[in-house]
Amino acid sequence: METYVIHVTKQCNCDCLYCYEKDKTSQYTWEEIKGFIDNIVKYRTSNEFAIEFLGGEPLLAWNYVRQSYEYLESIPDINVPSYCITTNGTIMTEKIVNYLSKNKKISFAASMDGHLHANQLRVFKESRKNTYETVMKNIAYLRGFGVEASIHIVSHPYNIAYLSDSIDHLYRNGIRYIDIGTVETTMQIDEAYCDRFIKELDIVSQRIADGTYKGLHVGVLEWLKPYSDVRTYIRDPETGKTIGESYGRSGNDVTDTNNIYNIQKCGEKTKTSEMIYYIRKTVYDNHQRRLNLVQP
Ligand code: SF4
Repeated sequence: METYVIHVTKQCNCDCLYCYEKDKTSQYTWEEIKGFIDNIVKYRTSNEFAIEFLGGEPLLAWNYVRQSYEYLESIPDINVPSYCITTNGTIMTEKIVNYLSKNKKISFAASMDGHLHANQLRVFKESRKNTYETVMKNIAYLRGFGVEASIHIVSHPYNIAYLSDSIDHLYRNGIRYIDIGTVETTMQIDEAYCDRFIKELDIVSQRIADGTYKGLHVGVLEWLKPYSDVRTYIRDPETGKTIGESYGRSGNDVTDTNNIYNIQKCGEKTKTSEMIYYIRKTVYDNHQRRLNLVQP
């Protein structure tokens, strides 16, 4: 499904050591965000699409997340079946948790790189402390209100050896939806990283197949992101700020309207992107083969 990403602030309370964000200061007005939403709706190629809120840290601009959701829900003839807040997981208030518990179309995806040691590059800006404990506390708080968080693990050469242990740890702490990405732009990945990625996910795949992890969903094992899934950055031509992104879509919509926004498509094949595609395809294929063998 076509997914549009709305940036609600570029500010962030963290300073992860591999952060790829160049702009960590821009803020937006409601008029800018509403204008982007209006253009998504005006130029849509389908009445059904998904929305993701991103930053910086989107929960620093919670009011814009809420306002965007309510605005989109009030527009007739469109159907947004899912909204996702992609957050660093460190910010939670009673107001947010109450709202999420009543609006189940909005999901909460926290970026955290596994257990305490695997998460050592994700730190708060001021204190430089690892975010692990705060994120786990917030996930437990959400669960108390019936909201389940998913975890997005960013893997890199310094935590790849912890990957299967991290997934085990998260599973034992009640997490059932995990996805895994790779640092692409700010760190170099090499063959040792790729070999370990495959090995670690093979361990997880085996445990899923033998029934150890009942109810666990690991995105990279269940779904192969197509190579053609080009991410498009959408920038305001006057301010130069990235106002949004899109991915998983076919074209001819707001992401092709260079007369309104500056569009940058990031689909170029590089050695790194080819390595990442190869390891993702390998673990996906291995897992599907393994499941077929255990199914009667
Ligand atoms: S949470 Fe970390 S990776 Fe994300 S924008 Fe903030 S510093 Fe960068």
